[in-house]
Amino acid sequence: MTNQDTIFGKIIRREIPADIVYEDDQTLAFRDVNPQAPTHILVIPKKPIPKLADAQADDTQLLGHLLQTVRKIAEQEQLTNGYRVVINTGNDGGQTVYHLHIHLLGGRAFAWPPG
Ligand code: AMP
Repeated sequence: MTNQDTIFGKIIRREIPADIVYEDDQTLAFRDVNPQAPTHILVIPKKPIPKLADAQADDTQLLGHLLQTVRKIAEQEQLTNGYRVVINTGNDGGQTVYHLHIHLLGGRAFAWPPG
């Protein structure tokens, strides 16, 4: 199985539907199918990096671009009161889909520390 065989790879290739809110040459963003907040969007690189721990030095521009994309989408979604940005990484991080993704959560207040 290649990395592209994740469910997010299928979304990138338009093999399964998603509620896409943003796209450019390097990234795709779509609404989480099981939202944990009024706004819950996943921002992913089109490049199939399985998890943050697998990113390489030459992914630095891409990682920065992903965060800038999160910021722009938060603006687009009018999350003026703040928001939570999460990257679950590996088993202990609670990652379930092994295609790097950033959760953008907003529309309510979040507790700290997380569970
Ligand atoms: P994580 O636990 O950080 O790996 O997050 C994976 C996220 O992907 C979860 O919040 C799921 O609800 C979400 N998810 C899984 N399948 C889909 C899908 N087909 N479309 C949108 N979101 C999905």
